[in-house]
Formats: sequence, structure tokens, C-alpha cells
Amino acid sequence: MAKPAQPFIPSPEQMALWPAESGNHINGLGETAMRRPRPIYWHDPDATPHGPLQRWFQQHNAGGALLARARAERQQVLDMPLSPLAETPAQRSAADWTRELKQLALAAGADIVGVARMQPQWVYDGFEVSQRFIVMLGVAHDYERMKTAPEEPSFAEVVTQYARGNRVAKALASWLREQGHEARPHGGPMAGPVTLIPPALACGFGELGKHGSIIHRELGSSFRLASVLTDVPLLEDAPDTFGADDFCLRCRVCEDACPPAAIADHKQMVRGEQRWYVDFDRCLPYFNEHGGCGICVAVCPWSRPGVAVSLAARMTRRRERGAGAPATPSDPAS
Ligand code: SF4
Ligand code: SF4
Repeated sequence: MAKPAQPFIPSPEQMALWPAESGNHINGLGETAMRRPRPIYWHDPDATPHGPLQRWFQQHNAGGALLARARAERQQVLDMPLSPLAETPAQRSAADWTRELKQLALAAGADIVGVARMQPQWVYDGFEVSQRFIVMLGVAHDYERMKTAPEEPSFAEVVTQYARGNRVAKALASWLREQGHEARPHGGPMAGPVTLIPPALACGFGELGKHGSIIHRELGSSFRLASVLTDVPLLEDAPDTFGADDFCLRCRVCEDACPPAAIADHKQMVRGEQRWYVDFDRCLPYFNEHGGCGICVAVCPWSRPGVAVSLAARMTRRRERGAGAPATPSDPAS
């Protein structure tokens, strides 16, 4: 999708709802100390400064039949009850629990699954998590549908994958409850108690891209996350780095494609970590006014089918040789 020639100017109607506090401030842009994230969007709209904008988004983006069908299917999944909690907790080794949970996740429809040990700094301010582990799930988007961003087929695809993520998370949580162990499933679009990108990075889903989404060595950057919190003993996975970050340092495809210029060309300090960061105050008005966005994910070279595997292998070889990113990152298949 070509970037419009004119700069994006949000509607006065939407901007009249803009709160006094910057979203970048809420997210901790420029803060050098590590702290828990503050709820900002897709949380209770009565409890967040940007809540009125969240409501505005929902009221102004009813969508067509495709989106309505996807939303109805997602709601069915969200309404599904969990299995009752069995009285006697089953006992297994950490290796056995991990193997069985991962097999079940893949059989239930996840494309990738990993385990991270919960960290307090992943829990949103005002929420509590007592569980020791978080099982992370990834479900890939259909590329052809995502390519239409920011049009309805791409939004319906996002909703469909949220439904799939929720379905898998609920299947895992139900199974754990049938084994006598409490479990908390979570999938989008509403945010839960935990910010999901940090545990997904910790459990080997890939590297954070310049566009603020994770780049996975097989799925690329076009997938959704879901999770299950649990106390059963599990074996945690290690992070996976293969050169996506090096690639982003020299690529600017998403930067150039983002209509409101929300994607910075350099890493920034965010709550004590130097990393890629998308300007919330620029991204959100465009996202809201178009019923969603996802252009940055759709145009990312890693999202093209079949590209991620060969690109990850190529970047790994380059790292081993001590070289940087290829000179023509927009043509990664060359
Ligand atoms: S989702 Fe946000 S950052 Fe990505 S292209 Fe759209 S406006 Fe830009
Ligand atoms: S489009 Fe390029 S710079 Fe942006 S996330 Fe993808 S690889 Fe990184």
C-alpha cells in the first residue's frame, strides 16, 4: 500500500476526546528506570485517560458483513466456559507438563508455543498475577488478507486470529483445570493483566521489530499472541535472536509506509530499556479513524510468505561472519 502524498490530519471530532496526558508519557517514553506498564488501550475505558477514544473507535467502526461475521465468531469463543476444576491435582514432572501442554497447544490450533517464567515487570499497574509461568501462543495471519490493510478484510483477519488465539488458550486452560490445576487464559482484543510482547520475546518468539511487533524466524511479523497463566511446573524456553534487529537497523519499509509517521528510525529509552518504539500519539489517531491499521505489519518484508525462514538463515550467516544487514532489505528474497 502506497503512503498517501498528504500528511494525515486526524478529525477534530476525534481529537476533541484526546486526553491531557500523552500516551507516550503513559508508556514511559524517555524514562530510564524500569517499572510496570500502565494500562493504556483495550483496558477498561472508564479507568484509562484514552478510554473515550477507545469508545469512539468502537462507535465509529461498525464495519461490514465480513467484520460482523468474524466478530460474532470471536464472541462465541470468548463466551465459551472453561472446564470445571478437578478436585485432585495431577502430578507430573516439569518436562512432562511442558511436552503435553505444547503438544495440546499445537493440536488445538496454535502455530507456535513457548514458556516463560513470569516477571513482575510484565504485569500492568493495578493488576496482580500470582502464577509462576506464562504459556505463550502465536497464531499467524493470512498474508493475502493482511495485505489489504487498512481495509476491512485485514481487520476481519485480525479478529479471526484473536478468536483462534482465545480458542487455543481456553483449550489449554480447560485441560489444566481438568487436571486439577487453576489456569488463566487470555487473548485479545482486550488487554489482560500482562503485557504480552515481553514474555513472547523471553520465550523465543523472536526479536522486536522497528514496527513494534515481534519478528519470528518462521512466521515473520504477522501473527497474534494469546497466553495462559499457570502454576504447574514447566521448563522455560530461551530467547531467540537471529538478526531481525540488525535487519531493522538498515530497513525503513515500515517507517516509509506509516501514514502518520509514527515509526521512529532509532531506538529509544522506554521504562529503562533502549528499544524500538512506535509513537502512540501519532499511531492511535490514524488507527482509530480507519477502523484499525496494520500497514506496518503488512508491508514488513518478513511478513511475505516463505521469506522469514530464508531471511533468518541469511541473517544468521551474516552475523556469524560479523557482517551487518543486506544492502537491499526491501528485497530480502534476493
Ligand atoms: S499501525 Fe500505527 S505504526 Fe503501524 S502503520 Fe499504522 S499508524 Fe503506523
Ligand atoms: S519493515 Fe523493515 S524496519 Fe520495519 S519491522 Fe520490518 S524489517 Fe524492520
